[in-house]
Amino acid sequence: MSRTSLAIALASLTALTSMIALPIGAQAATAETLSPAALAKACEGKDEWADPAPPARLFGNTWYVGTCGISAILITGDKGHVLVDAGVTKAAPLVLANIKRAGFNPKDVRWIVASHEHFDHVGALAALQKATGAKVAALPAQKAALETGKPASDDPQFAGLDPIAPVRVDRVLKDGDSVVVGKVVLTAHATPVHAPGSTSWTWQSCTAGFDCKMIAYADSSSTISSDGYRFTDHPDRVAAIRKGLPAMAALPCDILITPHPSQSALMERLAGTKPLVDANACRAYVAAAEGRLADRLAKESGK
Ligand SMILES: [Zn+2]
Repeated sequence: MSRTSLAIALASLTALTSMIALPIGAQAATAETLSPAALAKACEGKDEWADPAPPARLFGNTWYVGTCGISAILITGDKGHVLVDAGVTKAAPLVLANIKRAGFNPKDVRWIVASHEHFDHVGALAALQKATGAKVAALPAQKAALETGKPASDDPQFAGLDPIAPVRVDRVLKDGDSVVVGKVVLTAHATPVHAPGSTSWTWQSCTAGFDCKMIAYADSSSTISSDGYRFTDHPDRVAAIRKGLPAMAALPCDILITPHPSQSALMERLAGTKPLVDANACRAYVAAAEGRLADRLAKESGK
């Protein structure tokens, strides 16, 4: 073998090994077209649950793959990915398309987890579980509603909640347990504020420049109900909320993301008109919720 052909052989071997070593989804589309600002612009004036949105890299390996009105978050790694929330039933093809458009294979999603068991966040879960082959993990309080497809009777919004296609729950989590795929580690926090199975999720994401942030996907903090329900008649529910709110405020939280982007002004923060990184975000989110709960309880008591 001549020196030149040896060099060519070595070069092609190097090219081949670098291809083999490519992490899953490394051929992602350019950051320019999938920027947070482009997502915010595409969703300007749109907040419907099934309004299509482009995907965007939020930070490091954390991607937004949801619709304009409902979050779905993909955390990617070279051993596979984790998806947090699915959206309404109609959103299943949109979320799958966004995962692909971001440069990832839906079949590489290993786990899907959810914020809470309402149809606007888990309506598409069964379809996404089927399409990806991913397993689903949930806290016990969320498991029953996912598996039966029926809302929990102790949910303050019970009367107004649509059923969902039943989901197979593969793993039952305890508060503080983690879902792990390679270097992707998502920790579940029981935060039973908005629904009995409300779960907040935290993980670390790092940029290529080793700038690392703790991301908090804090569940909805609103304490709302169907007509006729009184929180003051349900001391257990109020006690659960009073445990969940401080747990939410204490989440490691450099970047707050919420199941409804509007609840944390996510689109404004992606557009750059408000800061995306704010270590006080979870505490401020909870403080506002505590105020609304106090108002609600006072109103119910006729004060
Ligand atoms: Zn919701």
